[in-house]
Amino acid sequence: MKTYDYLIVGSGLFGATFAYLAHQQGKKCLVIDKRAHLGGNIYCEDVEGIHVHKYGAHIFHTSNKQVWDFVNSMVEFNRYTNSPVANYKGKLYNLPFNMNTFYQMWGVTTPDEAMAKIKKQKAEAVAKMKADGVTEPRNLEEQAQILIGKDIYEKLIKGYTEKQWGRKCTELPAFIIKRLPVRLVFDNNYFNDKYQGIPIGGYNRLIEGLLDGVETRTGIDFSTMKNTWHDIADKLVYTGAIDEYFDYCFGKLEYRTVRFETETLDTANYQGNAVVNYTEREVPYTRIIEHKHFEMFGQEVDKCPKTVISKEYSTEWKPGMEPYYPVNDSRNSDLYQKYKHLADQETNVIFGGRLAEYKYYDMAPTIESVLKHFKL
Ligand code: FAD
Ligand code: UDP
Repeated sequence: MKTYDYLIVGSGLFGATFAYLAHQQGKKCLVIDKRAHLGGNIYCEDVEGIHVHKYGAHIFHTSNKQVWDFVNSMVEFNRYTNSPVANYKGKLYNLPFNMNTFYQMWGVTTPDEAMAKIKKQKAEAVAKMKADGVTEPRNLEEQAQILIGKDIYEKLIKGYTEKQWGRKCTELPAFIIKRLPVRLVFDNNYFNDKYQGIPIGGYNRLIEGLLDGVETRTGIDFSTMKNTWHDIADKLVYTGAIDEYFDYCFGKLEYRTVRFETETLDTANYQGNAVVNYTEREVPYTRIIEHKHFEMFGQEVDKCPKTVISKEYSTEWKPGMEPYYPVNDSRNSDLYQKYKHLADQETNVIFGGRLAEYKYYDMAPTIESVLKHFKL
C-alpha cells in the first residue's frame, strides 16, 4: 500500500485546486513546493498590513459562474474593479480606450464626435498603407493604427508595447493586438467579464481554503524525489516546468519575465490607484502597482499610514529568473510539442498549469481546467 493517492508538485492554483477536489473525493494527497511558501504566483506577502502581490499584480476575473461560486465558497471576494490609468509624459488618460480617454485625448464630449475622430485617423492609416502598396497590416504598428488611429497609438500603445515585448512595434506581429476594445461609453472597467474582485483578506486565504486538511511540505524540489516518488504515491500531478521534468533533453523553453522594484513609502496614498501604466518609452518601467488599492477603498486608504509600490520592468528571461510569460514563437511552440509528446506517454502523471502546459493561463481558466479534469 502506498501512502498517498496523489503526489502533487506545486502549490499554485492548479495544484491547490486539484488537491482540494481530490481530498473531497476522499483521496490522500501530499502537496510539495520548492518555494518556502504555498500558493505559487498568487502568494502575497504582508508588509505593514498591506498584502503585497509578490509575483505580480493579480486580479481575478471571469464570466464563468461555476468558477466564481467555487472561489467564493473558499473566501468572499471584494468589489475591486480594475481601472488602470495611463501616464504619458505627465498627462493622465483612462484605460481601456473609452469616452473618458477620448475626451482627455481630443476634448470630444459625445460618442459621435469621438467616432468621427477615430474614423478620420483610421482612414489616414489605411491610406498610408495603400501608398506603400499593402492591404494587410504587416506589423503591430500598422495594425494598431488601422484599429484606433495615430494619436492613441503614439501616446498610449507604442512605448508601453515596446517596453513590454523588448522589440519595436514595427518588428512585432500584427496579431498581438488584433482586438483592441474601443468603447463609446464612459466606462473605465478594464475587463468585460461578469465577475471580478480580490479575495477579502488576500489571496493567501484562497490557497488556505483550498489546502485545508491537505498535507503540504514547502522547500522541497521534486528533482530530489524524481526517482522515488513511485514508492509513496500512485499518481503524480506535476505543475512545474515541463522541460525541467524531462531534464531539458531537447533544450530549454524560453520566457519573458518581470523584475519588480518594491518599496515601502511613508505616505498613505502614492498614486491614488492600484495600477498606473507609464506609456512613454523613456520611463524604463512599464507600470507602478500600489498594492493597498486592491483591498482598501475610500477612507480605508488613509487609515493605513504607509504604502507599498512596485515598479515593473519587463525583462528577457535567463535561467534562474522566474519564468512568467511563455514565448509564442515557432521555436518554443515546436519545442513544447516535443516535450508534450513525451508527457503523453507518462501514464501515471498528470501535467497541468501554466508551467507544465507552457501556456499563459489566467487564474479562472486554471481553475476551470482542474474542474474539467474532475468532470465538474
Ligand atoms: P504557479 O502559480 O506558477 O504554481 C506552480 C508552483 O509549482 C510554484 O509554486 C512553483 O514553486 C512550484 N514548482 C515548480 N517546479 C517545482 C519543482 N520542481 N518542485 C516543487 N515545486 C515546484 N491571472 C489572472 O487571472 N489575473 C491576473 O491579474 C494575473 N496576473 C498575472 C501577473 C503575472 C506577472 C503573471 C506571471 C501571471 C498572472 N496571472 C494572472 C496568471 C496566474 O498567475 C496563473 O493563472 C496561476 O499562477 C496559474 O497557477 P499554476 O498553479 O499553474 O502556476
Ligand atoms: N497595451 C498598451 N498600453 C497600455 C496597456 C496595454 O499598448 O497601457 C497593449 C500592450 O501591447 C500589451 C497589450 O495591450 O501587450 C495587453 O496588455 P494587458 O495589460 O491587457 O495584458 P497583460 O500585460 O496583463 O498580458
